[in-house]
Amino acid sequence: MTATASTVRAWGAHAADRPLEPLVITRRAPGAHDVVIDIAYCGICHSDIHQVRSEWAGTLYPCVPGHEIVGRVAAVGAQVTRHRVGDLVGVGCLVDSCRHCPECEAGLENYCDHPVYTYNGPTADPPGHTLGGYSQRIVVDERYVLRIRHPEAQLAAVAPLLCAGITTYSPLRHWGAGPGKTVGVVGIGGLGHMGLKLARALGAQVVAFTTSESKRQAALALGAHEVVVSRDAAAMAAQAKRFDLILDTVAAPHDLDALLACLKRDGQLVLVGAPATPHPSPNVFNLLLKRRGIHGSAIGGIPETQEMLDFCAAHGITADIERIRADQINEAYERMLQGDVKYRFVIDMATV
Ligand code: NAP
Ligand code: ZN
Ligand code: ZN
Repeated sequence: MTATASTVRAWGAHAADRPLEPLVITRRAPGAHDVVIDIAYCGICHSDIHQVRSEWAGTLYPCVPGHEIVGRVAAVGAQVTRHRVGDLVGVGCLVDSCRHCPECEAGLENYCDHPVYTYNGPTADPPGHTLGGYSQRIVVDERYVLRIRHPEAQLAAVAPLLCAGITTYSPLRHWGAGPGKTVGVVGIGGLGHMGLKLARALGAQVVAFTTSESKRQAALALGAHEVVVSRDAAAMAAQAKRFDLILDTVAAPHDLDALLACLKRDGQLVLVGAPATPHPSPNVFNLLLKRRGIHGSAIGGIPETQEMLDFCAAHGITADIERIRADQINEAYERMLQGDVKYRFVIDMATV
């Protein structure tokens, strides 16, 4: 392998109020533990929009989003043992972490105090910040590269598992979604549609909560046993004290009390949506009178991400996607904000 830095084509933005456009970016010279990946597809996560538009604090420009990356190994460093040239692999939200803290040692790199996210994270090589998967190629330490066991024909639909999949799988597993448990999934977008598929495959009774009456049939096809339109107060009241677990993926602030009321005694509401402004505070009596809990969960660790990918391969689970060209990214963002996506846009990197 020739260890030289390379330039590749990418799509990114120069400012929060500018559209994404074609860019040329530099990838580091691969080191002994690095894997060079030719990116085939990259999913579009709502986090990409939050970040590139600086809705969360601290976006660095140019910003190249993308953390649902799949492709093929083009080269490996001399010390790489986990991956070989030609393997199908994926990269999610993390490309490094401190590796020494209790979280890293537990395989929970997602909770490390010094994670290096796939975009907008600190990096010394090249100096600046990490640039994500809306690009032709990426160089990543093998520890943060995942093996894909799905058939190659499904590769585009595997991409969203690297964020939407693990972000829903991890809390479903942690809070015990499975046979005998009633699980709600709120917001049927990229994350939510994976939440329905995964909760169903784990054996739970699954209920979709959506603001969109138009998604009723689709939510059933995705794995929900039942669908509740959350704008319907009577339908919500009928769900009172029913759920062991509710996974909330909504990308905007909303009323949490209506969801808390749906939990049984000891039921858990887990927030994974990351809106730019806070939710209205819930009423504490909705928590204490039934010993209910509110939690947050961020993506998942590297071992659990591999476990999720293998679980999905074994169960034939992929995302429902709409494949787009790179020059459709800006339009795709607008459509996502209108809720007009079934259920994940995936960029064909051959068009970048
Ligand atoms: P998405 O595809 O845009 O889906 C969000 C869904 O939320 C929509 O489809 C919609 O579902 C529902 N929704 C209801 N009201 C909304 C409103 N006013 N604005 C937007 N959505 C509304 O987004 P996503 O990619 O699934 O991401 C969802 C959220 O999770 C984002 O905030 C993202 O940043 C965050 N996220 C967090 C993590 C983590 O580690 N915790 C990881 C990835 C993403 P209905 O039509 O069914 O109501
Ligand atoms: Zn994401
Ligand atoms: Zn750490």
